[in-house]
Amino acid sequence: MRLLEYQGRLLLKEAGITVPEGAVTESPEEAFRITSEQLNGKAVVKAQVPVGGRGKAGGIKIVDSPEEAREVSKSLLGSELKGEEISRLLLVEPVNIDREFYTSVLLDRGTKGPIVIFSVEGGVDIEEVAAETPEKIHKVRPDPIMGLQPYMIRELLYEAEIEDEVFKGFYGLVEKLFRAYQEYGATLVEINPVGLTKGGELLALDSKVKIDDDSRAMEEVKRVLPEGEERRDKTELERKAADAGLQYVELDGTIGVIGNGAGLVMATLDVLDQKGGQPANFLDVGGGADADLMAKAYEIVTEKEGLNGLFINIFGGITRCDEIAKGIVKALEEKEAELPLVVRLTGTNEKQGRKILEENGIHAAESLDEGADNIIEKSSN
Ligand code: GDP
Ligand code: MN
Repeated sequence: MRLLEYQGRLLLKEAGITVPEGAVTESPEEAFRITSEQLNGKAVVKAQVPVGGRGKAGGIKIVDSPEEAREVSKSLLGSELKGEEISRLLLVEPVNIDREFYTSVLLDRGTKGPIVIFSVEGGVDIEEVAAETPEKIHKVRPDPIMGLQPYMIRELLYEAEIEDEVFKGFYGLVEKLFRAYQEYGATLVEINPVGLTKGGELLALDSKVKIDDDSRAMEEVKRVLPEGEERRDKTELERKAADAGLQYVELDGTIGVIGNGAGLVMATLDVLDQKGGQPANFLDVGGGADADLMAKAYEIVTEKEGLNGLFINIFGGITRCDEIAKGIVKALEEKEAELPLVVRLTGTNEKQGRKILEENGIHAAESLDEGADNIIEKSSN
């Protein structure tokens, strides 16, 4: 899960990192109020969208009065930035920054451990720095168990030629950033830029945080974020599925897909795609689903608008085909659907499952190939 800037900011703040005073809003009137009452009349208005490069794209504006904050907010809210709708703005006090730096901790999937990165080239795209002046990017790789050792932080900052006066400040910042990475089960925590004021104060002026949703540390993240915020990046149906303990993802096509097991579901999507069918979404009922869970899965997947068909592909291992068949029948009884339906059912209790389906006028395909052909044909009529 990728957090928005203002959410990541809350985690950084909780980890003891200084962030500029600010507040988040969805309305121009409130932007006016925040600017006049909380920020002394001036503000940086920042579009909260899950993409980088907002500054260059016009998503970050400095305003000099509460009136201007209201006008700028009015024009930003509801508009699109790099394909993402702006529904929230973060307003922060404009800080006088002397220099900008870059720092991050991320999970390197290659070595399966963290990397801590630091650069004196902050506020610009780090990929650009890496391409043009790679010598300005410094990295250390802490041992995942031993953690980030003091000598590693010192090495990082010596390499970057950080001056003595601010060394201690940076040391503390990197230490806290690493702790945040560990405590929140993050795969990335990035501050770009870190702002250094003339007075030697360090501030996180931006945040980019990615959390491993399956990490136990999600509990910690939920504690820090406002109620329900960790689910903001999910659609209505994705939330409903998560509540039912089901894995559900929305796509853009027209064929609904239900399967059991991540591998089978992925294969189903690939086969549909190869044959020219476009999946609208997919739901993994997991192993051992019973009739009730199957019925729930049916309900969620078919609730999506614009479906032309539904493909259910089940391989019965610990999942019993008769339970799946009962679930499908139950779902159809509850919600009479004109939606073209193709079921492919094979494995444990296949005979009983097929019998239940046949009795209800549904023929089950034998193979994935056959099923995919059938649903594409039926759904394109
Ligand atoms: P990004 O373009 O999406 O990475 O958004 P950032 O939050 O990093 O903002 C882009 C640039 O705007 C930063 O590199 C800063 O130079 C500037 N900026 C952002 N927030 C502040 C702030 O609070 N004060 C000042 N002075 N500049 C800021
Ligand atoms: Mn940035």
